[in-house]
Amino acid sequence: MNEVLRIAVQKSGRLSEDSLKLIKECGIRFDSGAGKLKTAASNFPAEILFLRDDDIPGYVEDGVAHIGIVGENVSVETNREVDTVHRLGFSKCRLSIGIPRGVPYTSIHDLDGKSIATSYPRLLGTYLAENGVSAQIHEISGSVEIAPSIGLAEAVCDIVSSGSTLLSNGLQEVEVIFRSEAVMIASRNLNGTQQNLLDQLLFRIKSVQTAKNHKYILLNCPNEAVEAVTRFLPGMKSPTVMPLATEGWCSIHSVINENDFWENIEKIRLAGAEGILVIPIEKMIL
Ligand code: ATP
Ligand code: MG
Repeated sequence: MNEVLRIAVQKSGRLSEDSLKLIKECGIRFDSGAGKLKTAASNFPAEILFLRDDDIPGYVEDGVAHIGIVGENVSVETNREVDTVHRLGFSKCRLSIGIPRGVPYTSIHDLDGKSIATSYPRLLGTYLAENGVSAQIHEISGSVEIAPSIGLAEAVCDIVSSGSTLLSNGLQEVEVIFRSEAVMIASRNLNGTQQNLLDQLLFRIKSVQTAKNHKYILLNCPNEAVEAVTRFLPGMKSPTVMPLATEGWCSIHSVINENDFWENIEKIRLAGAEGILVIPIEKMIL
């Protein structure tokens, strides 16, 4: 039992699909049949527990799960004794304060003496304290956006991604108090085997994430353009340059970063490259 890494993921919600996808991309196979609360991986010593996201930090603190995938918002709000071991880059959202549209707003101090409904009393309380604002916090567990229209509070503090929920409830976003993404949290009491399995999993996750940020590129160019073209192809070490059957031409293979992709492609094209192929990379081990 202690030789298996127990991974807690959200049972059903906004984190579920991407959490399971990430585990699968790490080559870990499991059966995620509907309604299952626990499943064992078939090719890695791991078990996956399907839980409510709010419960995940507590289970990880207690060591019932060894690691878990949750929104950083939930991890910080629940304030459990766990370590954040990796940022996962999905389920990005923000925790924001909203007030009824049309109500004038100049600064956070406009909220002094007001009441704010939220499911995040700790995060909100910290933010208000840091800004020297004293407002009343009404903790409610769901449908926070409705609070102002039913007279429960004068403002709300809730998760926003596009802002459309706020808008459809007649609210305007006035302060962003926290930016969140999915994170991997881990228990502080892992034994050697569990820590080793976690390290293996993190290594795989990083390889998957790095691969997503890079593309494999192939192109043809005249010999005299090689120097100019390779200047924009840093690659992992240096690009591979191979002669083509056509006299005076060669083929270049390299790896290119997604961030400055279009900028570099344009420079490469202007330097004389032709027949540029760009291919996704599945895993990248550095
Ligand atoms: P549960 O039933 O497991 O308690 P929940 O209703 O509390 O689920 P979800 O709405 O599924 O939670 O959101 C889970 C997490 O996904 C949030 O804590 C947040 O980190 C992130 N999240 C929430 N809303 C969005 C959004 N609109 N876009 C992206 N990520 C979001
Ligand atoms: Mg929840």
